[in-house]
Amino acid sequence: MTQDSTTPVLDRALDRLDLADDARKMLRTPHKRIEMSVPIRRDDGTLAVFPAWRVQYNNVLGPTKGGVRFHPGVNLGETTELARWMTIKCALMDLPFGGGKGGVQVEPKELSRQELERLARSYIRELHDLMGPDTDIPAPDVNTNPRVMGWMADEYDQIARAKAPAAITGKPLPLGGSEGRVEATGQAALYVLEEWAKRQERDPQDVTVAVQGFGNAGAHFAMLAHEAGFRIVAVSDSRGAIHAEEGLDPAPIHQEKEKGKGLDKVYSDTSVVDADGHEELDPDALLALEVDVLALAALQDAVTEENVGDVKAKVILEIANGPVSPDADDTLFDKGVTVLPDVLVNAGGVTVSYFEWVQGRTGDRWTEEQVSTRLKSRFDRVAPACFERAEKDGTSIRQAAYALAVERISEAIESRGDSC
Ligand code: GLU
Repeated sequence: MTQDSTTPVLDRALDRLDLADDARKMLRTPHKRIEMSVPIRRDDGTLAVFPAWRVQYNNVLGPTKGGVRFHPGVNLGETTELARWMTIKCALMDLPFGGGKGGVQVEPKELSRQELERLARSYIRELHDLMGPDTDIPAPDVNTNPRVMGWMADEYDQIARAKAPAAITGKPLPLGGSEGRVEATGQAALYVLEEWAKRQERDPQDVTVAVQGFGNAGAHFAMLAHEAGFRIVAVSDSRGAIHAEEGLDPAPIHQEKEKGKGLDKVYSDTSVVDADGHEELDPDALLALEVDVLALAALQDAVTEENVGDVKAKVILEIANGPVSPDADDTLFDKGVTVLPDVLVNAGGVTVSYFEWVQGRTGDRWTEEQVSTRLKSRFDRVAPACFERAEKDGTSIRQAAYALAVERISEAIESRGDSC
């Protein structure tokens, strides 16, 4: 994705939909793009300034909602496309939110914990007037986590001189975070995989899974899928991959990674390759494993035209946003590979963010059980609707999900009348 252009993935999907002109126009262009320079004082006393953005893509269905990523490769084009996906994701899940996304161009692993905190706070200081519980609600994304959200939420409250627990989601529990938010993305990805297995009459014990990416979403998915009986044969992170044909238990590997964070660090020094007793594997070879399910939980464009020919999995589970490029997606569809799309598969995170927002607004506290029952019932409604729509229209599940989401946005645009 370049600085100003977006990937054609959604444009292509919009072209294929029978859609009212207003919705097409609105979904092609972002509502608001905020460009910022975020300064921090480094520990050595020097000043560093980081390029940063917040894109509020579309707010027809509600305040814009979406994470903030800290990554050296993030740019305006990528943030815009991710914000547009959030628009689709929130509409598909029937949440009262539009779509947004933020990004700071930084290698966060090179910052000290204190510098990272200053960066999180500085980002919110720049954005403060343009966000809030009724306008735009940030959350975690790549390289940001509850700890970072805690700093952001505290900064927001201090500037507002008021407590606003619904202004930011994905917060730590003591600051008004929700039970179940940390596991939510991995948990709901498993619900979608289970829906696929049920429809294919496949017993989880006979389904092999390779997981690319062992961050919050990938690790929780791997652990929960293992508990549900799926055979996890490989996992990877940014430093390498491990493989065990008979299956591996991701929980101890996750525990080691968590320990690697230490008291004063946000990111782990430990990699999956540090786990004992497993064969190491080239991370690219993980994508080419002979498995039933390839779960992609790292970054966008993991599978492109260049390596799509190597993929032997029957199903791709998109836990990251945009891990399959549009051309590769077409190739996979032609090859008969089922792609379970990101806008459905990873929507558990934003769905529990919504639950957190509701709790923040009402002052209510839900138990873990209440959260997981509500999450499950929403996915029990939306996931089958996507599968059924794809069967009815003879399209990919991605196209079906887009159709359901865009129809909802289109109806809202029409219901608003002439105002825009
Ligand atoms: N960053 C996550 C996503 O891409 C969560 C967003 C949110 O909770 O608002 O869906």
